[in-house]
Amino acid sequence: MHRFLAALLIGLLTLSAEEKVDLTVVNRIKYEAFENSKAMDDIFYLADVHGPRLTNSPGHRGAAEWVMKTLESYGLKNVHLEKWGPFGQSWKYTHYSAHMVEPQYQPLIGFPLAWTPGTNGVVSGEPVMAIVKTEADFEKYKGKLKGKFVMTQEPKAISMVTEPQARRWTDEELRARATNVDPARANPFGPPTAGPAAPQPTPEAREAARKLAIKINQFFKDEGALVVLSYGYNGDGGTVFASSGGSRDPKDPVPPPMVALTPEHYNRIARLIAHKIPVKLQFDIQAEFLGGPEESFNVIGEIPGTGAGSKKEELVMLGGHLDSWHGGTGATDNATGCTVAIEAIRILTALKLPLDRTIRIALWSGEEQGLLGSKAYVQERFARRDTMQLGPEYNKLSAYYNDDTGTGKFRGINLGGNDMARPIFQAWLEPFHDLGATAILGATARRTTQPGGTDHTSFTWIGLPGFGFLQDPMEYQTRTHHSNMDVYDRVQPGDLMQASAIMAWFVYNTANRPEMMPRMAPPAPLKK
Ligand SMILES: [Zn+2]
Repeated sequence: MHRFLAALLIGLLTLSAEEKVDLTVVNRIKYEAFENSKAMDDIFYLADVHGPRLTNSPGHRGAAEWVMKTLESYGLKNVHLEKWGPFGQSWKYTHYSAHMVEPQYQPLIGFPLAWTPGTNGVVSGEPVMAIVKTEADFEKYKGKLKGKFVMTQEPKAISMVTEPQARRWTDEELRARATNVDPARANPFGPPTAGPAAPQPTPEAREAARKLAIKINQFFKDEGALVVLSYGYNGDGGTVFASSGGSRDPKDPVPPPMVALTPEHYNRIARLIAHKIPVKLQFDIQAEFLGGPEESFNVIGEIPGTGAGSKKEELVMLGGHLDSWHGGTGATDNATGCTVAIEAIRILTALKLPLDRTIRIALWSGEEQGLLGSKAYVQERFARRDTMQLGPEYNKLSAYYNDDTGTGKFRGINLGGNDMARPIFQAWLEPFHDLGATAILGATARRTTQPGGTDHTSFTWIGLPGFGFLQDPMEYQTRTHHSNMDVYDRVQPGDLMQASAIMAWFVYNTANRPEMMPRMAPPAPLKK
């Protein structure tokens, strides 16, 4: 063998040999995760019993109570709700019925948008098209919307679905995502043909769009519209993807009732209007702004570390977000991620594995409104992003692991630019290659300047090691993500078992390796 190659090989061997991989522990974790899984029980309680879990809604609070009881039953300490805020008003809907009654009867599939009011009883009337894009459009519709259902979008062009709705990454796709790296591309891991990513709207542009939407809603309300109708932003075939219509800020005006319909039903109404055939709709929506505290909370619990010296003061965190949207029951977004974290905790406690560092589970809220719960938590506990003034735990957190991309099994992990962790994760993933977890990506990912996507980016935003697992896409984008079909039956039990085992194994190793996980240099303060 070439002397250089031999040296390199020895170097690589030493590198991976430094990472202790205890196959006895892997075996015990797999056995506990696969044979004694509670994953689908957890999904049942989080989704069927307490879902949906819109932040601060009664479902969210009920789910949090259930999580605390469950964590305590596993022997966790310091289980509590950690407040953050303000978040805004609590909202729920308790009744939705929607029908076309003329020219023929048809029940209409849809649901009300969050933070919009009810109809105050049964309302019926005609639908009219009113496509309002700017304030200049108000003139066209003045005096024409009183007592009408307002159709705010052109009919949707729907094409036949020829691709399977659900899929897993192929090995080739996994390899491409880990190795087709061009640091000059906006998305270094996109397919080579993707080109630069579309520019994101600036915060100012987003605020302007928000203000315009409030004005348009106010116009519809002032004109006396009964219900504002749209089709969801994605999906067809009875699957409706939609989120909020109004504001959780009590200072903002309450919009008119707003509903998203499946596009096939929306289109039928639009075609009848275009043919000047009289249509009559009848809706009954009950929705409430519930008042109560404007603060929200993250659910926290700990397995105290038992390591020598200061080891037990050090932390390993794992989690997902407990809140959801309200069209379905938040099963894949993100009861699955919460379940994987809860299962990992159950596995570690059931096996009574020694854990040097303290394990802390955190189930966030306000994720769907912009990672609000995790952003508040990391700034309270670890470092204010603006000043980078450090809290007492900043130098004690080894790593945070997050699961929030649906039901798909773990196919690898994203380094988020922290390529110092690569050889460590390589060694840890090895015993899970046969279960499909092989990829390590994100070696050249840009630093997090604005948290986005999901909660581990709140950690990387302040320079802490935060990692998200790469999951099979399944039917997240086509069927479940923020839709009325985000429900129990779309969750794949085997995938949750695999993910729970890997989560437990990563947390176990992070708790017990001699050093904390390597971390990147902290970001500069935004202001002094
Ligand atoms: Zn989510």
